[in-house]
Amino acid sequence: MNKPTLRHKKWAAVSDKDWSSWTWQLQNKIETLADLEEIAKLDPDFSFDPEDVRKTQTDFNFAITPYYFSLMNLKDIECPIRLQCLPSSRENVSLDYELLDFPKEDSMMPVPGLTHRYPDRVMLYTTHHCAMYCRFCTRKRKVSDASTALRGQQIEAALKHIAATKTIREVILSGGDIFSFSDRQLDELLTKVRAIDHVEIVRLGTRNLVTLPFRVTPELVAVLKKHQPLYIHTHFNHPEECSAEAATACKALRKAGCVVNNHTVILKGVNNEQKTLQELNSKLIPMGVQPYYFYHCDLTFGSSHFRTKIEDDLKLIRGLHAEIDWHQEITMSHYMVDTPGGGKVELV
Ligand code: SF4
Repeated sequence: MNKPTLRHKKWAAVSDKDWSSWTWQLQNKIETLADLEEIAKLDPDFSFDPEDVRKTQTDFNFAITPYYFSLMNLKDIECPIRLQCLPSSRENVSLDYELLDFPKEDSMMPVPGLTHRYPDRVMLYTTHHCAMYCRFCTRKRKVSDASTALRGQQIEAALKHIAATKTIREVILSGGDIFSFSDRQLDELLTKVRAIDHVEIVRLGTRNLVTLPFRVTPELVAVLKKHQPLYIHTHFNHPEECSAEAATACKALRKAGCVVNNHTVILKGVNNEQKTLQELNSKLIPMGVQPYYFYHCDLTFGSSHFRTKIEDDLKLIRGLHAEIDWHQEITMSHYMVDTPGGGKVELV
């Protein structure tokens, strides 16, 4: 059963209409130290160390939707929701082997914003914007930085490259979060991609289903319906994220004809326990979401506090497959490791 999110008392007086409006959620994001301090003053259950946040030396902004904040267990400073969204000075630690652009996406761009690593697939970095900035983000070198967003002419240049390269069969629209586009922008972009004959597969990468499920409006669904078939790749990491609101959003996408796949990054303290992953996948399936990949946390700079050992991840995944009858057949939860610049390697 997916529970509706109990909104935090800071937003108790907000009307249901505003609360379930994606634009209201974006306008009311928590994104400054002062915002956090205001909540801490209001609610003795929420404590945090302002110095720790202040000392977080990173250009990667922070932003949390009121919805996602409300999923947090405020009494637990190691709450898996909190760990994913609250900045921490642990992000200042960068190890020798961690890299700025670990997957080497930026050096494989024939035109700005378009990574062309495999002959038949490209990934377009459409926007720097996300509803929430996940502290372990692989692209935190550029996500949240407005200067990295593609301008109209750059998107046109990317589309031109795709149209001119007949080997490309698959286009991934990513970012940032492609659902940060307005309905009109998304419709226009999908129309242009669909006009390229040799593009057969279109994938949209979004975490809005987890951090801002209200983004899935009837208007967005109408746009997506026009451009089927579409694959949505989303990113649930913890069972607490599988709320009633998230389930409604996922089911609406399924009704529109989308295939909704999930990848989960295994993160220390968040979900690196078999029972957590089992509960997560058990909740995703009734929501119409196909558990697809488990990922090892990338070697992105400043993420070592999240990283588990590959051998421990392997034990977890093999344990899931061994102990749950349906797991290997129903889920496609392969375990993937991204190699520096070399693409993904499947280990289970
Ligand atoms: S939603 Fe995706 S791109 Fe945006 S911060 Fe989170 S992991 Fe990074």
